[in-house]
Amino acid sequence: MTYDRNNIFAKILRGDIPCKKILENDYALAFYDINPQAPTHALVIPKGEYVSFDDFSAKASNEEITMFIRSVGEVARQLNAPMDGFRLIANAGLNGGQEVPHFHIHILAGRRLGRMVAAA
Ligand code: 5GP
Repeated sequence: MTYDRNNIFAKILRGDIPCKKILENDYALAFYDINPQAPTHALVIPKGEYVSFDDFSAKASNEEITMFIRSVGEVARQLNAPMDGFRLIANAGLNGGQEVPHFHIHILAGRRLGRMVAAA
């Protein structure tokens, strides 16, 4: 799948669309989800153009992967998510329910999140 430079997160990265920023460094941008599913719902996206986890894990450099994962941890700590626990979600592709085709990790916290996957 080729990367679509007009996807909503690409526009946020370019500053064409605003976001409620939590953290930004050379490798990642973190901001609050516009439609939160928990009291704390953040998104962390890599700065590079990767469609999904599949794309990122296959093509990103070791440095990008390391620094991105460290950034996810930093954001979670900044939001105090480790205190009572949290969940990371990376939806990928059609069956994964991915809506925005720029790799992102959801950080959800602030309430009991229930079962890992909804019943079919
Ligand atoms: P996905 O379903 O692709 O894993 O998650 C995409 C997420 O992006 C959704 O939770 C949705 O609420 C969020 N989202 C979509 N458009 C925007 C936007 O313009 N700004 C922000 N902050 N979040 C968005």
